Order: sequence, then C-alpha cells, then structure tokens
Amino acid sequence: MNHQTAFVLVRSSRQTLAIEIRPDATVVVRAPRRVGLRDIHRFIESHQNWIVRKRMELAARPQPQRRKFVEGEEFLVGGRTCLLQLSDSVSPAVDLQGDRLVLSAKAHSKARETVTTWYREHARRVITERVQHYARIMACRPSAIRITSPRRRWGSCGPSDSLNFNWRLVMAPREIIDYVVVHELAHIRHKHHGAEFWDLVGTFFPEHKAARRWLKDNGYQLDF
Ligand SMILES: [Zn+2]
Repeated sequence: MNHQTAFVLVRSSRQTLAIEIRPDATVVVRAPRRVGLRDIHRFIESHQNWIVRKRMELAARPQPQRRKFVEGEEFLVGGRTCLLQLSDSVSPAVDLQGDRLVLSAKAHSKARETVTTWYREHARRVITERVQHYARIMACRPSAIRITSPRRRWGSCGPSDSLNFNWRLVMAPREIIDYVVVHELAHIRHKHHGAEFWDLVGTFFPEHKAARRWLKDNGYQLDF
C-alpha cells in the first residue's frame, strides 16, 4: 500500500531540498521557493527508508525523566547528582547546599519555573566565567554572552560574535561545558566546521571528540 508521509514544508532561498525529523517525529522538508510539490513528494518517496530508520532511532532514544519536584528527586548540577529537598524557609527560593538542591516553601507551587530560573542564573555565572577564561587564552573576544533556551543546541555563535549557550548545559560536567565554550569561541575566528576550526578547538580542548560523543549519548539527560 502506498500512503503519503505527512510533512511540514518550509520554503526559503536555499538551493537544495533537505529533510529533517523533529524530536516529535514530524517530517520537515526544506525546499527552494521554486521547486514544485510533485518533486517534493518524489524526494520524500526516495528518502522513505531513511525517514523510517530515523523515526525508529528517535523512538528508541531514552527521554529525560519528567520531574515532579518531590523530596529526594535527582537533579544534575555540573555533572553531580543533587537531591531535591523541600524546605520551610522562605528565602532564597533555591539554594545549592553541597549535594542538596533546597527549594523554599514559598516556591513549591511554582517549582518548575523557580528551579529553571535558578539554573539559568547558575548557568550565567558558570558559563560566563569559563568564557572569560578561554577568551583570554584563545584571544577570541565575544561581543556578548547570552543564556538561551533552545531545544536542540548547546551553543551558537552569532554573526556579530555574540555567543549563546543553552542553560541546560550547566547540568553537564565541567569539561563538557568547557568543550562547548571552546567550540563557540573558535567560531569567532572560523565561521564553519572545517579543518582550521577543529585545529583551533583541538589546541585548547584536545578531547573534543570524546566531549561531542558524551553530549550525543547523554545530552538527553540534561533536562528535567
Ligand atoms: Zn559549531
């Protein structure tokens, strides 16, 4: 039986057709403005096996455990497992005390929002410090450092050399944070992923392959 794959079509000034599978398994086709629907359908047809394989991979991928913000739940901070503790105290809303993440009573009703805000602030402190450290030794100066919340990316470098980092990255071990920092700083010099780019990354972070592997395998856990 021949049934057509549902897809989202995104037209732009690009030159070629491309397919991607979103985390929710939606098929997205990116197409140049002038390519007709018949060609697009034919393109999807010719990638049917690839689509099926990608969707199976996606279904098999473990999902982060959705936290309920109850006492004793595990949260990652800098690669360490911290246990959530609900406290009667009013302030601060969230406090990291050794390996306990203490959430104040007044924040219980909006726990997810409060803990996310704390992580974002923690990410800003930790990541800014690491960027400043590596910016000095790499002689790459970012125009700004932003903490953002993309779904799929850990960092990016804007055209004006501003660097963006996903706040969830602060859940990862320090060396993984350092890898992403070095990677984005290297983009200030090289706006591509060519040999020169990886040479520069390798000079300041020789274990970059292992770090990328780690993010690929474990990145899904950096969420709650
Ligand atoms: Zn890159």
